[in-house]
Amino acid sequence: MSIQVFGVPVSRGVAIGRAVLVASSRVDVAHYYIVPSDVDSEIDRLRSARDAVADELTNLQRELPSDAPAELSALLDVHLMLLHDETLTGATKNWIRDRHYNAEWALSAQLEVLARQFDEMEDEYLRERKADLEQVVERLLKLLARSEPAVHGGMLARDFAGEDPLVLVASDISPADMLQFKGGVFTGFVTDVGGRTSHTAIVARSMDIPAVVGAREASRLIRQDDWVIIDGDAGVAVVNPSPIVLEEYRFRQRQSELERARLDRLRHTPAVTLDGEPVELLANIELPGDAPGALEAGAVGVGLFRTEFLFMNRAGNLPDEEEQFEAYRAAVVAMQGLPVTIRTVDIGADKPLDRMTSHELRHEHGLNPALGLRAVRWSLSEPAMFRQQLRAILRASAFGKVRILLPMVAHLQEVHLTFEALKRARQQLDDAGRAYGPVQIGAMIEVPAAAISIDRLLPYFDFVSLGTNDLIQYTLAIDRADESVAHLYDPWHPSVLHLVAKTIAHARAAGRGVSVCGEMAGDPAFTELLLAMGLRSFSMHPAQISAIKQRVLRADARRLESRLSAVLSSDDPASMARSTLAAPSN
Ligand code: PEP
Ligand code: MG
Repeated sequence: MSIQVFGVPVSRGVAIGRAVLVASSRVDVAHYYIVPSDVDSEIDRLRSARDAVADELTNLQRELPSDAPAELSALLDVHLMLLHDETLTGATKNWIRDRHYNAEWALSAQLEVLARQFDEMEDEYLRERKADLEQVVERLLKLLARSEPAVHGGMLARDFAGEDPLVLVASDISPADMLQFKGGVFTGFVTDVGGRTSHTAIVARSMDIPAVVGAREASRLIRQDDWVIIDGDAGVAVVNPSPIVLEEYRFRQRQSELERARLDRLRHTPAVTLDGEPVELLANIELPGDAPGALEAGAVGVGLFRTEFLFMNRAGNLPDEEEQFEAYRAAVVAMQGLPVTIRTVDIGADKPLDRMTSHELRHEHGLNPALGLRAVRWSLSEPAMFRQQLRAILRASAFGKVRILLPMVAHLQEVHLTFEALKRARQQLDDAGRAYGPVQIGAMIEVPAAAISIDRLLPYFDFVSLGTNDLIQYTLAIDRADESVAHLYDPWHPSVLHLVAKTIAHARAAGRGVSVCGEMAGDPAFTELLLAMGLRSFSMHPAQISAIKQRVLRADARRLESRLSAVLSSDDPASMARSTLAAPSN
């Protein structure tokens, strides 16, 4: 039966593929295809892991003290029985043989199938055996992690003629886990939780593949191997579509590929408005490895390097100065003399340091981490770590044009403390005889207090960058990662537009650089409005640059500026912008 699951659209386009269901706790399991000639050795790897787990369990049983409760031994019997059951290891081998999944992926795919069968059992005792099955799989995964994996040679779904494309379905994926899927086997994503500018959604968008988040029941309704259409424009997942619907979407998929190819031709065209205003289109990146793609997409620099991704999923072992320096230098060198804006860590909220997801964090603490120790507040509470990051960034500035960007500035005191930290970091580098270059310093304007008091902040900074994702969240008191209020997260709200317009106007009047690096910058629906506000620097995912450039090339900046007040004074700025800022048709 065909069903539709509705969620929040994240990134454009249509993906059609078979569902791979991944439990949230297992999204960090490696997912890759093995080369067909490695099938036998991969099955051997699984067999060895199974034998080793059998030994472990038998030894545990043998070493049970004589007074141990009888249930313990019985439990180990159940685990051994599950381990040897054909529906676990036998069926897992089929995923390896038929689909060429690596052993870990095959095992977690089969676990998802079996877990659902357990969930549907009438008998409570049997239903509870799901936890035992998960424990057995956990043991197998641990042992597999110790053995040499098969070579996967970076093979993707499209490299396998005849393989079906795959889409990932999960309840929740943390932003750091999402990053692991970059360049991987999945052609689309659906998650149960998340809002349009949650960091998981942002990372999905940076991969430029269709995704829907906040689809609530998706991971319960969709089954392993179901055919799924992900409509990233409308925010819908169509499960097991009829042939007619499938054909319609295949047509749309071809159309959007053609459109992309057409836009791609603009990559190296300078972004200048019809009336000759040059506009800077910069890239947002998460890791230094994204920099070559940014250049390729035609970015004239990096407007936001979210360095917190270097700090996440590291089980407490944070990158030291050398590791950070190498990462920042790699990005600077890759950008070949173009400016690179390195934001100091924005840890916290939905980007926690440890392995917990934001969902788990929320429940565990019952507090709102978006209002907690995040971003520059976190850095200032860890002064040694902050100086270490500042030293690493300063050192990278000896290799190119570097700008430092401070996230979530709200208080002047934070500015003073940061400048002191910078002074000390420079002093420490001087003492150690280490080279560094000049850097510009900027502040993210993403807390309403900073936008309201922009004139107090501007004298301290060379530039400011509007973080509209957080500015919307904090202005409207809407958690950007919470799908239940996603419909109220409104970038068009007059208060939000007022703060954005004010920041741009005041920064320009003070002769300071001003950019937008929130998702608004990469959304073509806002290009004319931001130009009308006087914005000339936009930072976005590389994949969006061509679409924004097309809007810039068709815009008349002076004409747009003359119409700004009509939009800002309207009760419905979105409709007003559509009618007054649209390019004249000729
Ligand atoms: C923003 O808040 O708009 C921003 C760019 O920062 P982040 O999305 O990383 O919070
Ligand atoms: Mg932000």
